Amino acid sequence: MFCYQCEQTAGGTGCTRFGVCGKSPEVAALQDLLLYAVKGLSYVVVEGRRHGVVDTSFNRFTAEATFSTLTNVNFDKERFPPLIKKAVEYREALKKKIKEAGGPEGYDNRAAGFVPAGTIDEMVKQGAEVGVLSDPDRDPDVHSLQQTLIYGLKGVAAYADHAAILGQEDQKVYDFIYDGFVASMKPNATVDEMVGVVLKCGEINLRAMELLDAANTGHYGHPVPTSVPLGAKKGKAIVVSGHDLHDLELLLKQTEGKGINVYTHGEMLPTHGYPELKKYSHFYGHYGTAWQNQVREFKEFPGAILMTTNCIQKPAESYQDNIFTTGLVGYDGVQHIRDKDFTPVIEKALEMPGFSKDTDKGSVMVGFGHNAVMNVAGAVIDAVKDGKIRHFFIV
Ligand code: SF4
Repeated sequence: MFCYQCEQTAGGTGCTRFGVCGKSPEVAALQDLLLYAVKGLSYVVVEGRRHGVVDTSFNRFTAEATFSTLTNVNFDKERFPPLIKKAVEYREALKKKIKEAGGPEGYDNRAAGFVPAGTIDEMVKQGAEVGVLSDPDRDPDVHSLQQTLIYGLKGVAAYADHAAILGQEDQKVYDFIYDGFVASMKPNATVDEMVGVVLKCGEINLRAMELLDAANTGHYGHPVPTSVPLGAKKGKAIVVSGHDLHDLELLLKQTEGKGINVYTHGEMLPTHGYPELKKYSHFYGHYGTAWQNQVREFKEFPGAILMTTNCIQKPAESYQDNIFTTGLVGYDGVQHIRDKDFTPVIEKALEMPGFSKDTDKGSVMVGFGHNAVMNVAGAVIDAVKDGKIRHFFIV
């Protein structure tokens, strides 16, 4: 395997035997193969546009499949073959439509013609042939920019997927995902050309973030300054990690009146500032610290754990039975909630002891979104002018 897509990468250069994140060589190969299938689909999508054929029905799929290959999202190898096959199914159906519209019979691109093998083991072998280092002759600067682009596209896909879950989409974002994947395969691209595409990816990512902001604030209100307890409240407990606000909302609804307090972990912390989430009285506080400390902290957690989006690390044996995944998240041997019926999580929390007493570990403030900040902009500017504020810290 070779993967250098994140800051955890081994020795700062690349994971070659096993991912520092816990990604096995098999999962790495299947993720590479899924990306290859998405690239092939993208190639056909872009060709389709030239013939006036546009099919938006698999946009969500493309975003989800791309997001699935991000760091700490899905480590369950069983979940990849269906996605790989689906990408090829969409691609072939689209080719048929393009042909009917007067388009080409064949495509001068290997990814656009790739046929998935019949078993996982064979797919792993196919994936090993299409990874990051599969084309050693490529100009290293161009190659580096193309990989940077791919990682940017994964980020765009993640935001686009979260926004789409809450009903916010923009075809421009999906169009760029397809264009970007095609650019990432271009054999004779120049450095200048690729710098341009990478910068465009940043621009599109801002649009995706805008969509996500509209989705989150539209559904849950603008965050307001809120004090979040860092201790515990006596009683049964569930901790939620990741950053899928919709999953958190569904869990809060399903746990209402059940005597369970809901805590956040890691990147879920800011959710306490949203009015439509903080209104739940059993949405209590924040447990632990950052996502990468989860193994140590989850071992001590006396309730059920729900992982959303991209934070999961290899669970310790001591909490393997208490942890659940949902959405695109997956880990071999961890129970996955497919249909957003969180009953198994709730039952597990009720079985477990919960916190035996109240503990006070202080609190932290959240809720300083752009709305809250701009509402006090005048006062802040005056305070700067008066010398009462001398430093700004960005977190
Ligand atoms: S995603 Fe995992 S395997 Fe890839 S560089 Fe990061 S830690 Fe290594």
